[in-house]
Amino acid sequence: MKAGNSVLSGFGTTIFEVMSRLAQEHDAVNLGQGFPDGNGPEDVVEAGVDYLRNGVNQYPSMFGIPDLRRAVAEHAQRFYGLEIDWQTETMVTSGGTEALGSALLGLIEPGDEVILIEPLYDSYLPIVERGGGIAKFVRLEPPGWELPRDQLAAAFSDRTKLILVNTPMNPCAKVFSRDELEFIAGLCIKHDCFAVCDEVYEHLAFDDAPHVPLITLPGMRERTVRIQSAGKIFSLTGWKIGMITAAPAVLTPIAKAHQYLTFTTPPNLQAAVAYGLGKDDAYFEGLRRDMQSRRDHLASGLAAVGFEIIPCQGTYFITTDFRPLGYNGSDAKFCKYLTTEAGVAAVPVSAFYTSDDVRHFARFSFCKKAETIDEAIRRLKRHFGRA
Ligand code: PMP
Ligand code: GLN
Repeated sequence: MKAGNSVLSGFGTTIFEVMSRLAQEHDAVNLGQGFPDGNGPEDVVEAGVDYLRNGVNQYPSMFGIPDLRRAVAEHAQRFYGLEIDWQTETMVTSGGTEALGSALLGLIEPGDEVILIEPLYDSYLPIVERGGGIAKFVRLEPPGWELPRDQLAAAFSDRTKLILVNTPMNPCAKVFSRDELEFIAGLCIKHDCFAVCDEVYEHLAFDDAPHVPLITLPGMRERTVRIQSAGKIFSLTGWKIGMITAAPAVLTPIAKAHQYLTFTTPPNLQAAVAYGLGKDDAYFEGLRRDMQSRRDHLASGLAAVGFEIIPCQGTYFITTDFRPLGYNGSDAKFCKYLTTEAGVAAVPVSAFYTSDDVRHFARFSFCKKAETIDEAIRRLKRHFGRA
């Protein structure tokens, strides 16, 4: 039999699937894959049920239902003062994942250079390479995750088509500062390239680290693709409703990819998300505060077990250094060991790097119920003799 596509065949099964499967097999508490174990805001779910029952069930426009596209524009105005024409500058996708895929496939020409910042979310590189792009990597290193500005500037060239920026950033929980984003914006303008900005965790920037959408910076309005995910805004990750905002000339080629990949996404869920985006400020502030307190809960538990905690400014994730526990194997082995022997699943941070020299860090998700976090900490304390 002939082989499948060689680029995609070169990648293994995604780490999230691998660790969740292992967690299930061993009845482990799953702090690996980032999904909440609650059921999201009741009124948003009820809205979805109503729309499902009341006939919002046929193909909508490939750009998404007008109510959701209007809600995306109103949300951008409310939170960031960003003026958007919903009819020419928004598009609904099947999750942030499809938004990323359509943006990359829609913009990249074979041979184009694409700047990726490690540690990088797992869907970026396969799609860049499948699109014929040539990845140029810039690395952030634990525990500080500082942006190496000189290396970043050196990675840009005349052949750079785009840079992919993720803020707040998975897995390292870094929220890029305005100053860092201005530096990136300056390079994009100098080299006349696009920026695809994965902002799925926009409402999960904690403490005094505000989320700044790259598209709002001077000179970026016409060259930035802003990506959102309703899954993260409403703690309903299985809904897979993504949203793209970009200037018309940038959105047009992206829509060409979208129309042949998924064409559209369930209209009933889109309508419920439109309702949800209209919720008052208290909802969004409540989400942020709630996740921040879960972060603190998990961080103090993991610290009591003996992990070193790397500061977390946003997202669903805490990165830990497990060397203080006396484990000297790789992070992949540690996470497997933790799942099968201690009954708690985590994700190895090396899965987000293209080389395996970052070997001592494990990522834990805190987007879980208090009792789930308590049970995980109980198991870890028992296992590591801290009970
Ligand atoms: N980008 C990042 C950084 C993510 O962590 C995720 C995972 N949730 C996604 C994109 C994908 O979002 P969605 O579930 O909406 O496809
Ligand atoms: N974004 C989630 C994480 O980082 C996983 C999403 C997925 O499994 N594709 O854990």
